[in-house]
Amino acid sequence: MTQERLPFALPDITEAEIAAVVEVLRSGWITTGPRTKEFEQRFAARLGAAHAVMVGSCTAALHLAMDAIGLKEDDEVIVPTLTFAATANIVRYFRARPVLVDVRATDHNIDVEAIEAAITPRTKAIIPVHFAGVPCDMDEIVSLARSRRIAVVDDAAHCFPCDYRGRPVGTLADITCFSFYAIKTITTGEGGAAVTANAEWADRMRMMSLHGIAGAAWKRYLAGGRWYYELHEAGFKYNMTDTAAAMGMVQLERASSMLARRREIADAYDAAFADLGAFELPVRLPDRGHAHHLYVLKVRAGTLAIDRNEFIEELNAAGIGTSVHFIPLHMHPYYRDLYGYEADDLPVAKQLFERSVSLPIYSRMSPADVERVIDVVTHLAARAALRPAPA
Ligand SMILES: *Cc1c(COP(=O)(O)O)cnc(C)c1O
Repeated sequence: MTQERLPFALPDITEAEIAAVVEVLRSGWITTGPRTKEFEQRFAARLGAAHAVMVGSCTAALHLAMDAIGLKEDDEVIVPTLTFAATANIVRYFRARPVLVDVRATDHNIDVEAIEAAITPRTKAIIPVHFAGVPCDMDEIVSLARSRRIAVVDDAAHCFPCDYRGRPVGTLADITCFSFYAIKTITTGEGGAAVTANAEWADRMRMMSLHGIAGAAWKRYLAGGRWYYELHEAGFKYNMTDTAAAMGMVQLERASSMLARRREIADAYDAAFADLGAFELPVRLPDRGHAHHLYVLKVRAGTLAIDRNEFIEELNAAGIGTSVHFIPLHMHPYYRDLYGYEADDLPVAKQLFERSVSLPIYSRMSPADVERVIDVVTHLAARAALRPAPA
């Protein structure tokens, strides 16, 4: 009788990824090497970008990007409050200040007017986050930043692959950071990439990703490689392994088909939930794509006898995993106490957080899994309805 639990997210790993990793394990070269270089070239080529620097996580990529643009103590970086911890934490690594700003109620993306209002002479960068896989207003953000000599580093952890006004996300900002974490749209277990058109920044990020050693430090162990190397900075250990890169190249090949499956799931959810009345559905915008990394339902005020938390508990009791994206950063103890934020200082993000539930959306879900989520949500909404759905 009892059904197996449907997890909130699962990686989509086939025999091809397993074979690619096994091949690397058998090769004798398992850390940064030829596979990582090949993945960098293929990923950059896929985006039509000049340089991709493969690293151990999106957090590492964001950290290296802030180093490359020259972030210093007491500088300011504009960050949406509705994001994951990493987007702002990497600013704190420099003892600089992440200036948290509010988002739009429609697509949950950073509000361009809020950016403009937050700019000061200390503003060094803006980090737009493409929430759930919908690109931010990049043309407006980049032109605002250009006119004031501010860098734009986009956090595209949710947004591969995706186009914006006919151009790939990864070619819109000064540096774009992607995540290949276990449950992102493509995965290497842990991994990330920093993509840029700027050769100097790419070289700097590569050097800082491997201790601060100049040149391709990994090559010293190749046949004919030289033992001599020079240290130019106190760098980090952020390099990607060849096992991860081998997995990533297979995932890259499958990225479009996995996206197509996520889009089908989003379409099925939209069709099923549109008429329930209790929920606001995720938006899609005509001039940009959607990577469908997340499917966030928002409970409409005054339509259900249960609140968001009870809704999540009911889904959990029915064996369906969910999540919430995100607890706004200004409501976390660290940022609240550091800068004295009140929850209502950034009211749109606070309200979105209180009403949001993220449903499972991943390419491994079967048609029966999708039907099951739809059934449970639909029955819950009917049982908890305070008033009939609007006609
Ligand atoms: C997952 C995520 C990150 C961090 O990615 P890692 O690869 O785990 O470091 C950063 N920003 C956002 C918005 C994310 O969702």
